[in-house]
Amino acid sequence: MNTFENSENFANQLDESDSLSHFRNEFLFPQLKGKQAIYLTGNSLGLQPKSVRDALDVELKDWEHFGVDGHFSGTNPWFHYHKFLNEKAAKIVGALPHEVVVMNNLTVNLHLMMVSFYRPSKEKYKIIMEAGAFPSDQYAMESQVRFHGFDPEDAIIEIAPRKGEHNLRMEDILETIDKNADKTALIMFSGVQYYTGQAFDIQKITSKGHEYGITVGFDLAHAAGNILLDLHQWDVDFAVWCGYKYLNSGPGGVSGVFVHDRFANRPDLPRFAGWWGHKESERFLMKKGYIPEFGAAGWQLSNAPVLTMAVHKASLEIFNKAGMQALVEKSKKITSYLEYILKSTAPELNIITPALERGSQLSILTNDNGKKLFNHLEMNHILADWREPNVIRMAPVPLYTSYKDVYCVGLALSTFGK
Ligand SMILES: *Cc1c(COP(=O)(O)O)cnc(C)c1O
Repeated sequence: MNTFENSENFANQLDESDSLSHFRNEFLFPQLKGKQAIYLTGNSLGLQPKSVRDALDVELKDWEHFGVDGHFSGTNPWFHYHKFLNEKAAKIVGALPHEVVVMNNLTVNLHLMMVSFYRPSKEKYKIIMEAGAFPSDQYAMESQVRFHGFDPEDAIIEIAPRKGEHNLRMEDILETIDKNADKTALIMFSGVQYYTGQAFDIQKITSKGHEYGITVGFDLAHAAGNILLDLHQWDVDFAVWCGYKYLNSGPGGVSGVFVHDRFANRPDLPRFAGWWGHKESERFLMKKGYIPEFGAAGWQLSNAPVLTMAVHKASLEIFNKAGMQALVEKSKKITSYLEYILKSTAPELNIITPALERGSQLSILTNDNGKKLFNHLEMNHILADWREPNVIRMAPVPLYTSYKDVYCVGLALSTFGK
């Protein structure tokens, strides 16, 4: 265990011995109440890397200089753009490069994956998911179920925390799968729960589902770039995530998709098709008859949105430089430090994120004065994140949060209500 101290000196020492501390200089920080913000909302919208502006400029200049020929000329010929991201994105989620493709936005990709991997029959049609999933995921599941002619009330099995608890117990997840296996077509979970910050055991959930031949998919919106992932080894069937949370790729930024290698060459799988997923060597023959490209690339519909992809590429380069292993090590330490600071300056706060199952996020369940506390933090230049009905989320993301930032959160808390 770490032994921490609530002092500026101690926080400064941690920053000095932090091998990742220089990455902070690669980001732009917003102003809050007239001062540079202490930014604890990288779980919601990551900060802008300074390198993004140049990366965009490269594409704008190529557009200026080459026009349509930019697809095959220029610095990063656009025809191949998605491929420039594969290896970088694959490292974030623990995948083989051909198992990953960057395209579209998250909810769109979730639906595209459901088209291929939610194949209900009269007997096996249910979806097991966590209760209180991010609303977009709930809507996606409900509408998919209805699309196939089933009733969400019957077809969606939600696993909720036990009475008086905030998080799911692994044993309850496994038991629900055991009990409903014969009727279940899909298990769909988040990697990290957006509200509580609970990180689920992706490998265990996957292998339990596979015991019964059930397809298992994950929404990694809050997991990608946050916790260590090893999707290929864990044998996950498919996964989706977004680029703009921990991955710092800008508002509305592109999303990533993982499709396991075992589906790489399965043209028989039903899918919604578009020209960009067509076998690359024949894409411009403009012929009838869809032949999917090998791997996850075969799920693409449209040509790459190069400007948002350029942002994502620049951001992933920073992640690859830092390395997920080192980032997660710091994440654990700085999140523990935040927990320590919260407990020592405001012991009345109820942190509901489980200590042993989390990334860099603490969810604080507040009572009547939650909004007041949130506003007090803002007055002290701290940008945390308010989630209805009554949770404040704080994410000390390792790329750009300093231990001094965390110490300052404690300073602010110690003057709350005084
Ligand atoms: C952030 C988030 C979304 C957002 O979906 P978009 O399609 O990117 O707007 C969806 N699902 C989860 C679990 C999220 O955390």
